[in-house]
Amino acid sequence: MNHVVLTGDRPTGPLHLGHYFGSLANRVRLQDTYEMYVLIADYQVITDRDLPGSIQRNITELLLDYLAVGIDPAKVIVFQHSAIPELNQLLLPFLSLVSVAELSRNPTVKDEIAHSSQQAVSGLMYTYPVHQAADILFCKGTLVPVGRDQLPHVEVTRLVARRFNERYGEVFPLPEAMMGEQPLLKGLDGGKMSKSRGNAIALSATEDETAALIRKARTDSERLITFDETNRPEVANLLTLAGLCLGRAPRDIADEIGYGGAAALKRLVTEAVNEFLRPIRKRRAEHTEGDVRRILAEGNERARERAVITLGEVRDAMGF
Ligand code: ATP
Ligand code: MG
Repeated sequence: MNHVVLTGDRPTGPLHLGHYFGSLANRVRLQDTYEMYVLIADYQVITDRDLPGSIQRNITELLLDYLAVGIDPAKVIVFQHSAIPELNQLLLPFLSLVSVAELSRNPTVKDEIAHSSQQAVSGLMYTYPVHQAADILFCKGTLVPVGRDQLPHVEVTRLVARRFNERYGEVFPLPEAMMGEQPLLKGLDGGKMSKSRGNAIALSATEDETAALIRKARTDSERLITFDETNRPEVANLLTLAGLCLGRAPRDIADEIGYGGAAALKRLVTEAVNEFLRPIRKRRAEHTEGDVRRILAEGNERARERAVITLGEVRDAMGF
């Protein structure tokens, strides 16, 4: 099948290892084969924050993270929400296709509300999955490389596409999610590794920062290191992290450490992560802010051309 790939991230802070093993690795793998769009979801930053914060800085850093992991702007269209008004206009008809009940039972939205530090929950919190449907459908995306938290949102997109087609005629394909090697990487506190939860190892972290983060990770006092996700989740999580970075089974790493205890485990994890991040850090340093501006200007223009066409089709189908 000839896929169109669409995925993206919010510019809320540096990308981390969860992004890498959940989505970025798949993007790099797929970029040689398929037409691909990568969205910097800047409008979505205010979903769970009062203000967009250092938005321009975060956008630049996000693009540098992309370049660092090997996303190639010659093959991939990188663009931002705020530059594509036609994409955002799809939100209105799409909102009419889902019920309030469907929006309020989205499990990822519920989890994000639970972790939000905002005083009140905004309407955008409940409707952003529909905005995400517009992200995917504006380019008629068929494949969406994402982490597990995004599965309910891809379902919303399929629902929107199906109902639109039923009411107004065939316009949209039904996209599918593609999860990475580790669809839900846990952070150093045992919860989902997230930019906003202070529990992440950033792809741009220095060797010392990485070592300090891993030193602080919780473990237990048992000397014999075993891979037991149910009874020793913290130890299992560190072994998983090392396993991903080394391309090895976590169980084998546990066997190798044996009676070394938490100190040996952390030493091994730190080395594995730093070794893994070394080429990524190096590539990051090879790019400038000028590169970033050029890539975004070009990506925004190409994405906008695509969005104009789709919005035209939508308006025609609806009779406007
Ligand atoms: P924030 O806390 O600001 O929401 P985030 O860390 O959740 O940030 P997003 O920009 O919301 O990052 O997510 C971008 C992509 O990365 C999504 O496809 C998401 O599923 C994936 N992703 C995020 N965190 C993880 C994780 N811990 N494991 C696997 N995939 C992840
Ligand atoms: Mg998130």
